[in-house]
Amino acid sequence: MARSKVLIVEDETDIANLVHFHLAREGFQPQIASSGRLALETVATQRPDLVILDIMLPDLDGLEVCRKLKRDSATNSIPILMVSARGEESDIVVGLELGAEDYVTKPFSPRVLIARVKAVLRRRDTESSREVNLGESLRIDPARHQVFIEGEALDLTLTQYRLLHFLAQRPGFVRTRDQIVTAVRGEGTVLSSRAIDVHVAALRQKLGDRGDLIETVRGVGYRLTTDKVGSAV
Ligand code: CA
Repeated sequence: MARSKVLIVEDETDIANLVHFHLAREGFQPQIASSGRLALETVATQRPDLVILDIMLPDLDGLEVCRKLKRDSATNSIPILMVSARGEESDIVVGLELGAEDYVTKPFSPRVLIARVKAVLRRRDTESSREVNLGESLRIDPARHQVFIEGEALDLTLTQYRLLHFLAQRPGFVRTRDQIVTAVRGEGTVLSSRAIDVHVAALRQKLGDRGDLIETVRGVGYRLTTDKVGSAV
């Protein structure tokens, strides 16, 4: 990977410098913007490969910055990793629905942050490949709308299939209930975000022993865990 430019948007100098240090040591080209407005200016001039965006900022908050970047066709493909305080799940949900790729909560370890940065950049590089292949434990055949767990075909409803397929497109990344609703609802189907919980419960039951592949992220949504599907991802 060429040296990826990472913009750190953070007004707390100690945190910004710490993240800068670790990113530089990992071979990234980090840069710091200490406010929302500076972040927008820097993105426009520097075109970073990824933005680490704190939500609590002095002028424009991180959600507003995220909204502006994702609405502008010149910048909407730049992945955003949000940083929020623990307990601010509602901000995370809003940010993900605005188009942020992922988030970490403060306090975070630099190691965890670097891992998320790498995962987001790697995901962006492979996003175009539509194949869903999580090794032996889970295989999805989109042409036939079929799901195999350890080689055995599952009998899923269309909604359950769509739900699993949607989560499996980005393993390890959380999706909010509203994102799932939008992805799985078909022609003339009305689906509430509460109904998603019911579909997930039914899907987990059909997954049997592997029901734990679908992880609940409290207050945010669901993700397909990558911890239990081996090294295929
Ligand atoms: Ca802050």
